[in-house]
Amino acid sequence: NSARRQAIRDVRAYVPPAPSYTATETPGEIFGENVFNKVVMQKRLPKSVYKSVMATIENGARLDPLVADAVASAMKDWALEKGATHYAHVFYPLTGLTAEKHDSFFEPVGDGTALAEFAGKTLVQGEPDASSFPNGGLRNTFEARGYTGWDVTSPAYVLENPNGNTLCIPTVFVSMTGEALDHKTPLLRSQQAMGEHAERILRLFGHTDPARVVSFCGPEQEYFLVDRHFFLARPDLLNSGRTLFGAKPPKGQEFDDHYFGAIPERVLGFMMDTERELFKLGIPAKTRHNEVAPGQFEIAPMFERGNIAADHQQLLMTTFKSVAKKHGMACLFHEKPFQGVNGSGKHVNFSLGNNELGSLLVPGDNPHDNAQFLVFCAAVIRAVHKYAGLLRASVASATNDHRLGANEAPPAIISIFLGDQLADVFEQIAQGPATSSKDKGSMVIGVDTLPVLPTDPGDRNRTSPFAFTGNRFEFRAPGSMQTVAGPMVTINTIMAESLDYAATELEAAVAGGTDFDTAVQSLLTQIITDHGAVVFNGDGYSDAWPIEAEKRGLANLRTTLDALPELITESAMDLFDKYRVFNHREMHSRYEIGLEQYALTIGVEARLTLEMGATVILPAAVRHQTELAINIGALTAAGVEPDHAALSEVSAPITKLRSALAVLRDALAGGSEETALGEAEHARDALLPAMSAVRAAADALEEIVADDLWPLPTYQEMLFIL
Ligand code: ADP
Ligand code: MG
Repeated sequence: NSARRQAIRDVRAYVPPAPSYTATETPGEIFGENVFNKVVMQKRLPKSVYKSVMATIENGARLDPLVADAVASAMKDWALEKGATHYAHVFYPLTGLTAEKHDSFFEPVGDGTALAEFAGKTLVQGEPDASSFPNGGLRNTFEARGYTGWDVTSPAYVLENPNGNTLCIPTVFVSMTGEALDHKTPLLRSQQAMGEHAERILRLFGHTDPARVVSFCGPEQEYFLVDRHFFLARPDLLNSGRTLFGAKPPKGQEFDDHYFGAIPERVLGFMMDTERELFKLGIPAKTRHNEVAPGQFEIAPMFERGNIAADHQQLLMTTFKSVAKKHGMACLFHEKPFQGVNGSGKHVNFSLGNNELGSLLVPGDNPHDNAQFLVFCAAVIRAVHKYAGLLRASVASATNDHRLGANEAPPAIISIFLGDQLADVFEQIAQGPATSSKDKGSMVIGVDTLPVLPTDPGDRNRTSPFAFTGNRFEFRAPGSMQTVAGPMVTINTIMAESLDYAATELEAAVAGGTDFDTAVQSLLTQIITDHGAVVFNGDGYSDAWPIEAEKRGLANLRTTLDALPELITESAMDLFDKYRVFNHREMHSRYEIGLEQYALTIGVEARLTLEMGATVILPAAVRHQTELAINIGALTAAGVEPDHAALSEVSAPITKLRSALAVLRDALAGGSEETALGEAEHARDALLPAMSAVRAAADALEEIVADDLWPLPTYQEMLFIL
């Protein structure tokens, strides 16, 4: 009568929900239906107010406080028409999750009735009690209050719920002293810095008054779906997001039969339903497919401005979770829910550009001749080489450690893949002016009726952490659970520094009388000479690469605790300070929180391992052992010579499990270090190995214990039944 047996019965009996789709509606109609977007604002706001808000959104002008009342009133009317009863400031604390504080629109008035109120100052500023969010020491010396502030550049939206809707307002979240307690504040700051220096480069190239340059982000989200009945029967999945036990299934992903396979009907139903919800919220869901592992899938929305993409990405994750529940499934965003099976990442596709010029990372047909592109591209190469450690730190977490460097995701060594054509151009530049670009190749398929297909000069290399893919760079190290804001802050900031450097060099050369083309040429040659070591077009999974990388002086920061100290080096702190993204205190707080989250994550896993090992797995194994012992007794009584092999076979791992549990119990009792670093090191050095030992014994038992006694849904059941 185990939870597992019950789950299997429930899965069999499952009836999918009635479709919410109606044949008459079109995606075009519902797109952005619940968003307070430009069209709605233009319709509902006085012209001067609309213009003022647009100046903030499009050109980064400071928000005029006088317009807030008008916007608040229009927003309230619109939201009430959409069935909203409450409004919420939505913010992104350093837990990596989304937080929201809800308030009712309705306030009682003297005569005992209630009126809908929403003033400009309520829209602009909120004040949640922030004492329960991680702050890394930023608030120790101050009061616990935190403030939320309206981010005008990310549109407000109405979130539907069968019991009443809520107007959601994206906000920053800061301490009383204005220090960032969230992911959005630094994203906006870094965006501003990057734009400013990119515009200097554009001016040098003759664009006298360039439109605001912003960064774009297109996140590709990988995730797993498992039947919810199984999910609920696995305390580890439920509480830590990953399985802490589980023997490898007889059939894994070795047949490659899932990747890009036909999407199972139930999953397709879920995808359609999520995409419909995303569309209403103005999130441009675009691509969907099966991923490498069984039960694994991907969604890639169209790229958007970094800040909006980050908000949308968070909203996408919460939408996926709730729609999955409705479809009887659980959506797992953990980087490694199943050991021995591919993990999940969140590729961050990055580019920069503006309304007039589009993407500044488009090489054109003749990149060797496209000096402006080459300067932006060289700036990326320099930034990634110089600040590889910061990029690595931006994706460091206990959960992502399971994935990076495990030959399924890029190695922890940060390098750049340029593809054939660009690599060749930069090799020429290292020697002097580049004079040619290799042709785009073409594929001759050998069937007369098929067209000759051009090949992408950007090519593909799945093993590179930072790859040029034709009109953008794809940062592949971020984990599936992470907010994209973290990596985007780092990319924006290191790009700001690189572009600042390039602009300063070029401006000085031109002022000194050097001809502009010559100045560009020597800048490019110098950058590729100094930073070319980071360019690697080979196989990042090969054993030779770490050796080669070491020769090139590239760091290999394998785990979170190797990477996090990169945040508090003097050069890192000065960099972030110089571009006003983080002051030194904020950097320290991020470092502390990184350590805290690491120790907390592993602490929870360790306690779960202990509990499940002792109360779920050991009793099952002992029952099996007892049956065998009774069997031996019965055989002996019947005068049949018993075979003791099976009993010894199960007894050995039981003994191992008992002693491993004892070690883990001691390790857990031993962990009360003074500092966040001490706690984190204890987690790495004492808890992780103790958990592995428990798991090894438990997984060995799973392969021996009678199936009807085994209490936990198996990998096979979770991965292959959808
Ligand atoms: P692939 O699997 O080939 O990497 P996908 O189609 O899965 O490609 O995802 C590519 C992602 O890159 C999408 O989110 C897409 O919108 C985004 N993207 C495309 N062009 C750009 C660009 N110029 N800047 C940023 N992101 C981009
Ligand atoms: Mg991809």
